[in-house]
Amino acid sequence: MEFLPVPLEQYVAEHTRPESELLRKLNRETHAKVLMPRMLSGHVQGQVLRMLSLMIRPKRILEIGTYTGYSALCLSEGLQPGGELVTIDINEELEQMVRRYFDEAGASGRIDYRVGNALDILPTLSGAFDLVFIDADKINYGTYFDLVLPLVPSGGFLIADNVLWSGKVLQPADKMDPDTKAIAAFNEKVCKDPRVEAVLFPVRDGLMVMRKK
Ligand code: SAH
Ligand code: CA
Repeated sequence: MEFLPVPLEQYVAEHTRPESELLRKLNRETHAKVLMPRMLSGHVQGQVLRMLSLMIRPKRILEIGTYTGYSALCLSEGLQPGGELVTIDINEELEQMVRRYFDEAGASGRIDYRVGNALDILPTLSGAFDLVFIDADKINYGTYFDLVLPLVPSGGFLIADNVLWSGKVLQPADKMDPDTKAIAAFNEKVCKDPRVEAVLFPVRDGLMVMRKK
């Protein structure tokens, strides 16, 4: 999962704004109680997302894949006053914990948390979203991109996480598992799509950052 040597990874973390006390607690509780805690964005990526959001200053953010709410809380810090973040997750078992953290962060008023399948919910949403974070099931990345792009205004941004997929995108196509295939196809697709310009940020497991033309 880590592409940088551990000492450099540590150096990066030491020279990145620390997590808030609440994010640290959420990070710890996720690792202690929730399956697959590696899915949580974590300290450095969380701060990267927060910084990107502060640079973009979105009025509305859409997140696909809430998990325990870590990235939602980070992204929400860049919202304009009165802005909102819509976040979707299919896992209802996490709902109580996520709502508790959104409440504790004082963010429940600006976060519209929807529990359900993004494939069902996305077609019911209306735009505009100036920032979209795609981080749910990898198989559907291409579908999510096509569903949300019409909701993004010209000049808006989309970010997709895990696009390096622990380096498995380099495997020969006939050796790829379905998730790897889907991620590799997504990366090809967005680089060719004339509607966006894309830059792959090699942050943690890879962030594809896209701007709609
Ligand atoms: N964004 C979070 C991590 C998300 S992990 C963070 O950075 O901290 C991926 C999440 O996608 C999981 O919680 C999973 O339940 C959710 N997911 C998977 N398939 C989904 C679907 N079809 N619709 C909505 N959410 C889905
Ligand atoms: Ca992720």
